[in-house]
Amino acid sequence: MDLIKLRVNGKRLQSSLEQMAKIGGTPGGGVQRLTLSDEDKQARDLFVKWLKEIDCEITIDEMGNLFGRRPGRNNALPPVMSGSHIDSQPKGGRFDGILGVMGALEVMRTLHDNKVQTERPMVIVDWTNEEGSRFAPAMVGSGVWAGALKLDWAYDRKDIAGKRLEDELVRIGYKGTAPCRKFPVHGYYEFHIEQGPMLERQKKLIGAPKGILCLHWYDIYLTGEANQVGPTPMEGRHDALVATAEMILKVRELPGRMGGNMVATVGEIQNYPNSRNIIPDRVHFTVDIRSWDDDLALRAWDLLRTDFEDIAATHGCPINIEETWRVSHSPFDEKLVQRVLDAADELGYSNMLWVSGAGHDASYTNHVCPTAMIFVPSIGGRSHVEIENTRWEDCEAGCNVLLHCLLKAAMEK
Ligand SMILES: [Zn+2]
Repeated sequence: MDLIKLRVNGKRLQSSLEQMAKIGGTPGGGVQRLTLSDEDKQARDLFVKWLKEIDCEITIDEMGNLFGRRPGRNNALPPVMSGSHIDSQPKGGRFDGILGVMGALEVMRTLHDNKVQTERPMVIVDWTNEEGSRFAPAMVGSGVWAGALKLDWAYDRKDIAGKRLEDELVRIGYKGTAPCRKFPVHGYYEFHIEQGPMLERQKKLIGAPKGILCLHWYDIYLTGEANQVGPTPMEGRHDALVATAEMILKVRELPGRMGGNMVATVGEIQNYPNSRNIIPDRVHFTVDIRSWDDDLALRAWDLLRTDFEDIAATHGCPINIEETWRVSHSPFDEKLVQRVLDAADELGYSNMLWVSGAGHDASYTNHVCPTAMIFVPSIGGRSHVEIENTRWEDCEAGCNVLLHCLLKAAMEK
């Protein structure tokens, strides 16, 4: 058969996504499928059943990463790999992660239906705990696989109820025996919703991120002086929350001040004692800075840090700053990225080169093997919310791009 003419079955992809959306479906139209929850188990079971229907060999590693392997003509060659994650945010959407797993499954089903034999084996993967919302941090399954995180450390991550990640893996029956260790991969493609508004704004169907922005995380702790709000005059107060408010505005202004491609966000704040009639004496908040340019992000932080220290001094609120986490920007493999753009062109889909502001499992596979991603538009640019949505025809288009990228890679000798 003429492989150029091969297309995925968009209706079947839609149906797989709809069936998955029922597992942990929320009244608001989203899903809550927290990692290693009963819902995660149920979705994994269904995924395994579907893999077996197309004769894939299943492997589960010590981190619960789930691999389905479709043999090729020459099984001594490293496989091509594709996948994403089945877990979701609390009150997350129906597309984040699962689209990349169901998309790769649809590709394999299409090859199976058409009895296409590829030169290389093909592997589909569901990475454990991409979201990090139940067990922080994010992307732990792919991180351990890539050798960037330690298995025992990952096992000891605890959720809010104090349950350990390893115990929960055992409980749902997905602590496998295969070592969680990188193996040679010829190329990894991850199909994902954009989770931002740029494709929609530019009226493009397919996005090929040239890589993932750097990610710098900071934790800020301020100490003020608590007091009854009524009798305490305004002058001489040490109000940790007012100092924080000024700092948050500095974060908001930072990208404009620095120029270039940068976003900066305060997303989390705890205020103590959080009472309407007590002056706040303790605040913790987070800062998240992302940019394609790591140096720019570091220079930005230097400025911000000075501002924070000045504001803290003005308010007489001692400040403690932790530089929590830094991941440098991660350029994807140029050849694979170009292949995404070329495949989109050949299929007649509009496309653009872009960056990914969000972290993905692809950030870790990128350390191990040539990696690229395929983005399709998120309606209204919304993600990690129940109304997260992507048009079915866009899912199908992205899946066709995935099919042809994987086919090209899998046919390479
Ligand atoms: Zn995701």
